[in-house]
Amino acid sequence: MDMLQVEKFKGVLLEKREELLERLDKIESSKVRKEPLEADSSEQAQEIVNHEVVDALDNMEGEELDKINQALSRIDNGSFGVCMECGESISEARLKAVPFACVCINCANS
Ligand SMILES: [Zn+2]
Repeated sequence: MDMLQVEKFKGVLLEKREELLERLDKIESSKVRKEPLEADSSEQAQEIVNHEVVDALDNMEGEELDKINQALSRIDNGSFGVCMECGESISEARLKAVPFACVCINCANS
């Protein structure tokens, strides 16, 4: 992959990271607002469900953030766009869909 393309993906990744950090920030503040849990049992159950959703979202976004950070460090060390499993290059189409992909489509599906 040539440097120009790598730079383009770097821009996309940095933008995505900003977005995620903003969203995580909002999730954190909504958590604080929902505390403390005190209500009758049905309301409390609802609160717990909300918490679980927020936690799941939190995990998902946290995981994505990790992947983005990894992809950015792979850009820095020159291994971006190379499959971590088989060493083949990851197709541009795949990187456009998933800019933080670290394995090629074949390895991702196996
Ligand atoms: Zn592969």
